[in-house]
Amino acid sequence: MLQNTNIRVAQLNRQESLIRLQAALIEQSHEAIFVMDGQNRIISWNRGAEKLYGWSKQEAFGKTPRDLLETRDEPQPYAEVLERVAREGHWEGELIHTTRAGQQVVTECHIEVMKDGEGKIVAKLSNNRDITLRKQMEFERKTYTRLAIDVTGFGCWEVNLGTCKVEMTPEARKLFGFPLEAALDHETVLSRIHAEDREKVIEIFERLQVARDADYVFEMRVIWPDQSVHWLAKRGRSFVDENDHSVHVVGVVVDISERIHMLEEIEQTNRRAKEALNSVSDTFVYLDRNWHFIYANERALECTGKTLKEAHSKTFWELFPDSVNTTLEESFRRAMVTGEEMHFEDYCAAHDKWYSWNVYPVHDGLIISYHDITERKIIEMALQASESKFRRLVESNIIGVYISDTQTRIWEANKAFLDTIGYSASDFIPGELKAEDLIVGYGDETTKRVEKEMKENGVVTVYEREFRTRQGDTLPVLLAGARLNGCDRAIFFVMNITAQKDLERQRDAFMSMTSHELRNPLAAIKGNLQLAQRRLVQLKKVTETLPGETESNLRKLDESVGRALNQTNVEDRLIGDLLDISRAASHRLKLYPRLCNLVEVVYATVEDLQSSFPHCTLIVDAPGQDELLVMADVDRIAQVINNYVTNALKYAGYEKPVRVHLGVDDGHARVSVIDQGPGLTLEDRQRIWERFYQVKGAKSYGNVGMGLGLGLHISQILIALHDGQVGVESVPGEGSTFWFTLPLFSSD
Ligand code: ADP
Repeated sequence: MLQNTNIRVAQLNRQESLIRLQAALIEQSHEAIFVMDGQNRIISWNRGAEKLYGWSKQEAFGKTPRDLLETRDEPQPYAEVLERVAREGHWEGELIHTTRAGQQVVTECHIEVMKDGEGKIVAKLSNNRDITLRKQMEFERKTYTRLAIDVTGFGCWEVNLGTCKVEMTPEARKLFGFPLEAALDHETVLSRIHAEDREKVIEIFERLQVARDADYVFEMRVIWPDQSVHWLAKRGRSFVDENDHSVHVVGVVVDISERIHMLEEIEQTNRRAKEALNSVSDTFVYLDRNWHFIYANERALECTGKTLKEAHSKTFWELFPDSVNTTLEESFRRAMVTGEEMHFEDYCAAHDKWYSWNVYPVHDGLIISYHDITERKIIEMALQASESKFRRLVESNIIGVYISDTQTRIWEANKAFLDTIGYSASDFIPGELKAEDLIVGYGDETTKRVEKEMKENGVVTVYEREFRTRQGDTLPVLLAGARLNGCDRAIFFVMNITAQKDLERQRDAFMSMTSHELRNPLAAIKGNLQLAQRRLVQLKKVTETLPGETESNLRKLDESVGRALNQTNVEDRLIGDLLDISRAASHRLKLYPRLCNLVEVVYATVEDLQSSFPHCTLIVDAPGQDELLVMADVDRIAQVINNYVTNALKYAGYEKPVRVHLGVDDGHARVSVIDQGPGLTLEDRQRIWERFYQVKGAKSYGNVGMGLGLGLHISQILIALHDGQVGVESVPGEGSTFWFTLPLFSSD
């Protein structure tokens, strides 16, 4: 018994010293170890625990790890962990604790139960190894790998060349256009590869079968089921499995379509740039500092007759010997030395051509471009010649010239023009003087017509105007102008026609005087002839029975007097026309208007005419018109009708009927004289109202004479004085209709 007891004591002593040893070891361990009692309260807390968690032994004792370390229920609820420990005797896994400083630590935890001699659980020992850093690294690696996959989009794949089975990550499947779940083999993958690249892939795989542990890289096109083409770059390595049998190829794959497209684009841009360089009419050469060719476009090479390769071995001076010892050589050398850009034009006597040169110094030489500007130069020189001719004209001061803008501001004027308007060169300030202040009546109908003509045709044909000089005098001028190209300015030519006008005035005065001088004796002659005619009539009455010879003489005498009277009438009309013209020119043509019925005036005039021309057919055609009241000088209106009807007879022939039509048109009475004569061309119709104008080669009938070409001009003046209008409608060979209108009288 004692022996037994002794043995037992000895055993207990060994156990105790073992426990003490264990406790000492635990205490020294740098892993965090603590022991919990049955209620999970901490009863032991080693140095490692103090270091890891920051709590001292005193602080830790009596607390549960849940409270002290805020043990998280992650990745597994802590209560469950402790239950398992109680049930199974141990547990291992990861736990997340919080230190005294509030930092979270991840531990790899082993919990073991401690039992007494009877096998009763007395405590739990928790051994905690800090794996926070490792975890963090793992996390980071995973994150970075994911990030790398996401960013680069690369996928991983593996082929077992023995079984032909293919494994692919979702990213790789996506790149090949495969669904996520489908089983893949080498054939399926090959079928996705573009026919042109497939051979290459097969060849690579065949090589890998023999050459183990080999790396390869290649680019290929993959065609997705929707037929879209994708460029992939594959990088792989082959190795054999543990049995040294099957060859595995493992690798990554990445989409490089964008890069390929970019390369294609760059290539295209380069090609285009090259094409552009070759297609421009400019010639480009790029020379190094020793004057050797680095680049020359096609045009430049054409000039040398060499290929770029051949040109490379020569200097610029060898290829372009004409440029040696010329201003070109001097300029190029200067640009090379000074680094200054140069742009100039130069005549090449050898080619008889003008060139425009641009020289750009760059760090390793010169870029020179040039192009043929001969055509432009010829035009420029021609322009210069015509410009100098024009300048000579302006400076010769034969004619006045000024240049004005759309607001009529005069910007340039020659001496002749300034003299005309009474200015000296020193008085003239460009842009200050306005043509509208010089032109008498500016803004009137003529101004509108001229402006319209300038706008539509770019030129204004000669027209008459009056200018007011600086001294307040008015002087007649002829004006013509043309718009200057490329700006809003126009050039005007001004000719002072005071002298001509004076002459005209003198002529008018002379005409007026001579007409008066002629009219007086003509009146006397006419009076005497009429007297003689009346006496002859009386003589015939009293002497009824005259000898035959005397009677025949008397009859001849009567006829002669009749013809003489007729002639005096013609003379009288001509002198009347001349007088009217001179009166009109000096604004002395007076009207004596009164209210009258135009229908009556027309009938009366035509009746008179009919008695003068008894054999002619004159028809008045006034449908439904009895009264057309107008304010008019009856004699003058009769003169116009007279003129129209006599012209109709004179130019159509006396046997052709003449119709006088009366109508109303827009508040105006309208009288038209319609003949069946030769008609008039457009030019004649436009010019017929000018004074002295007569149609060339026109044939007139009867004995009223050709006239002076004044009748229509006077008619126009007379009708204008009545505020009416004149006009003619005619087709050559189909007769003419001369018309005039008069405003109908209204009591308002
Ligand atoms: P003239 O005294 O010459 O007749 P007018 O001024 O009356 O002068 O006419 C001018 C010209 O117009 C004439 O010379 C003639 O050539 C032409 N003319 C006038 N009336 C007619 C007409 N009815 N038919 C054809 N030509 C005409």
